[in-house]
Amino acid sequence: MTILFKNAAVMIDGSRWLANGCAAVDGTKITYVGESIPEGRFDRVIDCAGKLLTPAFYNIHCHSAMTLFRGLGGDLPLQRWLNEKIYPAEDRLNPERVRIGSTLAIAEMIRGGTVSFSDMYFFCDETVKAVLDTGMKVNISRCLLSFSEDSTVKGDSRFDEAVELAKTYHNAGDGRMKIDMSVHAEYTNKARYCREVADYTHAHDLNMQVHVSETLDEHEECKARNHGMTPVEFLLDTGILVPSATGTATAAHCVWLSEGDMELLAENRVTVAHNPVSNLKLASGVANLPLMLKKGVRVGLGTDGAASNNAQSMLRELQTAALIHKGVTRRADIIPTGTICDMAMSGGAIAQGRHDCGVIEEGKRADLVLWDLDAINNIPMAEPYSTLAYSAAYGDVTMTMCDGKILYENGEYKTLDVERLRAEAKPILAHYFD
Ligand SMILES: [Zn+2]
Repeated sequence: MTILFKNAAVMIDGSRWLANGCAAVDGTKITYVGESIPEGRFDRVIDCAGKLLTPAFYNIHCHSAMTLFRGLGGDLPLQRWLNEKIYPAEDRLNPERVRIGSTLAIAEMIRGGTVSFSDMYFFCDETVKAVLDTGMKVNISRCLLSFSEDSTVKGDSRFDEAVELAKTYHNAGDGRMKIDMSVHAEYTNKARYCREVADYTHAHDLNMQVHVSETLDEHEECKARNHGMTPVEFLLDTGILVPSATGTATAAHCVWLSEGDMELLAENRVTVAHNPVSNLKLASGVANLPLMLKKGVRVGLGTDGAASNNAQSMLRELQTAALIHKGVTRRADIIPTGTICDMAMSGGAIAQGRHDCGVIEEGKRADLVLWDLDAINNIPMAEPYSTLAYSAAYGDVTMTMCDGKILYENGEYKTLDVERLRAEAKPILAHYFD
């Protein structure tokens, strides 16, 4: 299938854009970007007058099935929210419920221009199948835990599931499925077990996902437990944050990092998943993004689960990240808006090991989004970065394409029966909120 987008404002990346341009897609790849109309015949020509074409979003921290718990325990701080609301609700999950919860998140992400997400949870097969069915991409990981100093991966059913997932699905769907490893966090794991997981990760050249320094208590209690080591130092010491041959780690939250932590993350090519909305909602704090960038840390954006956000909107993360660091530092020029856009797009793609994604360039994967510039809230567009960061709305997405396949267009899901999803979800939601 060949598709030509013409008469579009084209945002190539966070620093280059065309006021009136074209892009061509052949199969899964972008074959042309430029101001003139390329030669050749196309199966479909899309006139994009009044539209903005951008790279799609890559959500690098998520627990998709937790969409079932959207709204549970709205005003509780993290530990009470987990203990009183989330853990009891998770005890009642089963594979079918995880499939439906993940599909709810997938539908919300596709609608908002996200084509790929990094997920950390359980019953991961169900999420993988949902992603394969809907044509999206995922970096999925079976969340690992160890509560005793003697814990070992040998005979650990969670670890066995992670290994089985990697064997079955790694790079399935033409590379759309990637299986990452994950330990939940320092405070839910022990050193020996972490070392064994890290050994497996490096031996198989996989990516790693882990929560790091989300709250001040977590950060300080780690130091007390581990002879002054911060969570970053502990996770480096045990190998968890050490890069594989090509794989790297994604550290979610990183609200309470020291300057030394940031330097270590930069040295080890770790990407920080900045989740500003979840961190604000759970009152965890505001990560020092300007200092991370100054230290050369890679950063992408994530929603976290819908239980702590409560949306799966990468646009809202982008907009929150664009605003909050200006307010905290009282400097309007603290981070260029285009840089924030890059975090949501190419920054996330790189974290997921998708180096051929996240930019509208010839040879890259065709992960594209069309935005309605004729929407009243977007008139006029001075340049695309400020439109995305300060005026666009979630509903302004008119098309989402992943690997050259249209997943959503003009109100219609192309790969997902959303009415059936609503009908399947309702009885489960009633179960959690009765
Ligand atoms: Zn999380």
